[in-house]
Amino acid sequence: MTITVEAPVRALPGAGPSRAKQLEEAGLATAGDLLYYLPYRYEDRRHPVHISDVGRHVDTPILLRGKVMSAAMHITRLRRMKVFEVVLEDGTGAVKLVWFNQGFLSDQIKRGDRLSIFGAPKISSYGQLQIESADWEKFEGDDEADGAIVPIYSKVGNIPPKALRQIIGGALSALPTLDDPLPPELRKRLGVIDLAPALEQIHRPPQLDAAFQSRRSRAHVRIILQEFFTLQLALRVRRASEEVKRKTRRITIDDDQRAEVKRILPFRLTKAQKRVLKEIATDLQSERPMYRLLEGDVGSGKTIVALIAAIIMIRNGHQVALLAPTEILAEQHYQRIRQLVDDSIVVAKATGSMTAGERRTFLAALRDGYIQLVVGTHALLEDRVVFKSLGLAIVDEQHRFGVEQRQRLFAKGDTPDILVMTATPIPRSLALAMYGDLELSVIDELPPGRQQIKTAVRLPAQIERVYHFIDTEISAGAQVYIVYPIIEESEKSNLKPLTAGFEATKQRFPNRRIAMMHGRMKAEEKEETMQRFKRGEIDIMVSTTVIEVGIDVANASLMLIIDADRFGLSQLHQLRGRVGRGTRQSYCVLVSDKEKDRLTQFAKTLNGFDLADLDLKLRGPGELLGTKQSGALRFRFGHVVRDYELMEKARDLAIDILEKEGLAKAQKVVRKLLGVPVPATVKD
Ligand code: ADP
Ligand code: MG
Repeated sequence: MTITVEAPVRALPGAGPSRAKQLEEAGLATAGDLLYYLPYRYEDRRHPVHISDVGRHVDTPILLRGKVMSAAMHITRLRRMKVFEVVLEDGTGAVKLVWFNQGFLSDQIKRGDRLSIFGAPKISSYGQLQIESADWEKFEGDDEADGAIVPIYSKVGNIPPKALRQIIGGALSALPTLDDPLPPELRKRLGVIDLAPALEQIHRPPQLDAAFQSRRSRAHVRIILQEFFTLQLALRVRRASEEVKRKTRRITIDDDQRAEVKRILPFRLTKAQKRVLKEIATDLQSERPMYRLLEGDVGSGKTIVALIAAIIMIRNGHQVALLAPTEILAEQHYQRIRQLVDDSIVVAKATGSMTAGERRTFLAALRDGYIQLVVGTHALLEDRVVFKSLGLAIVDEQHRFGVEQRQRLFAKGDTPDILVMTATPIPRSLALAMYGDLELSVIDELPPGRQQIKTAVRLPAQIERVYHFIDTEISAGAQVYIVYPIIEESEKSNLKPLTAGFEATKQRFPNRRIAMMHGRMKAEEKEETMQRFKRGEIDIMVSTTVIEVGIDVANASLMLIIDADRFGLSQLHQLRGRVGRGTRQSYCVLVSDKEKDRLTQFAKTLNGFDLADLDLKLRGPGELLGTKQSGALRFRFGHVVRDYELMEKARDLAIDILEKEGLAKAQKVVRKLLGVPVPATVKD
């Protein structure tokens, strides 16, 4: 029987009913699905290292093969952790293998088993050479192609690796029936090889050079580019289909508006602000709706830029909404805007804490168009909030909102112009991947005269000196944040929990007013605590990272970050941005005895974009964006950072195709590309 890509997995050799069921549950239903289930690494079984040589490979992953001499589970006395220890022997020597908290291993690995091990030898804290948490696989005798290059796949259910390889090997016979979703002409323009040989090589590498090991061979590049190109073209096509809708309003900018803006501006705009403003003004006057991401470091002055855009819109007879993630931030925006525009523009605030009467008046005034600019929280998204004519929707700290929430705001107008703002500096590579359909404006300069926050790294042993400094500063009138890494119940790490820190702080500073804040508190409770801090009723705020991005407490001038090594650099930068907002000299003190280089680098670097780039190199995109957003970046095959230039290439071609060959053709290509099966993720 010939196997086609549509063949169900149970038709493949080695896939009995139980294994077929497990494959299906993992989203692998057909031979075609399996073709896209790619190995995450290769093992060169031609050259296992002799165990006697393990000591020469400390910290580099190596392959060992040997026999289990002993296997035993221990429970550590201190933290009741399960430790599974195996001694592996190969005739040249023996080495210890250790796994933590994997109780099930004692059922799977037994004395006398022959194991193939892949892992990096380390020197334990007791000075012993061992391999921790290695990848392992049993082999019986020498039955499996000794001297072969073996693809290693992520586990599917409890299917043994060898069986999984056999099943996938069977699926490869479906390759001749595989339809290449990239037409020949596009393959040529992307400079990639055909799909079938690419997949064949990835599953059965002809050789194991560096390109293959790092998953950047021509075969891999073919798959990565297909994935990136699909994304980029899909984003562009979606955007282009929306753009078919032209705006009905015509926006003009005249001298009166220019004069008004000049009058209310309390300072000169920076060069970067002017440039960005010009980009926005051009968008507003265009027939196509604006869809722009405004990026700027904390304190770079995004609000004023958004406000000027709002004034232009309002003077053209339309309304503006500014959505903020919390009541405090909404209030802060509201107060600042009121100060700047006095009574010439009707500004309102919509929050969850309005009374029924207030809400009724507010809703009516908004519907009539009396309110020209509304600042609000999620309350703005309710169905009963109706505008007369919403011309511009602004979302502050956009990462705090889901796509669906943003859409709800945008739907309140007739193709409103859209400006989303973020203080998370996203390097271009990530922005391309995440927001391929947004235009990007960047304020890459801070207003002049900003005081520099002094940053220092201190060891835990020096904490008393830091406390002493805190005391002096509070006596001089300052307020202080002490931040602990987020408490994760599931994580049994040795972080001092927040509450212990809170108690310790109270003991150390018996005469100071101290409060605690964390993410598991109710929203109102958090707001209330933050408001009290803002009013100066609290000296020390002991907190997790929940303290708001963009919050302005001019009097808070000292930020102490405990176990600072646990944070990404961008996150540290965001935290540091909570101080230095007033005239008081501000300080950020990092406490840690780990990752000294990284933290020292942070102390020396004040630019958020530089830190973001560094972060990206050191820790990857998840760290930079928080887990919520990095989901969008988890590609199956490509990697946004490593494969950055492939993303650019994919994007350029997507734009080109749309421009030269039109929407209809591009849509057809996308449809074909999206027909590719979407299997389970590949382990990175
Ligand atoms: P962010 O970009 O973090 O939202 P804001 O818009 O809150 O920054 O601006 C931070 C502070 O800088 C505000 O107090 C604002 O009034 C001030 N500011 C903004 N632009 C300028 C400028 N060009 N010159 C001086 N101060 C400015
Ligand atoms: Mg802001």
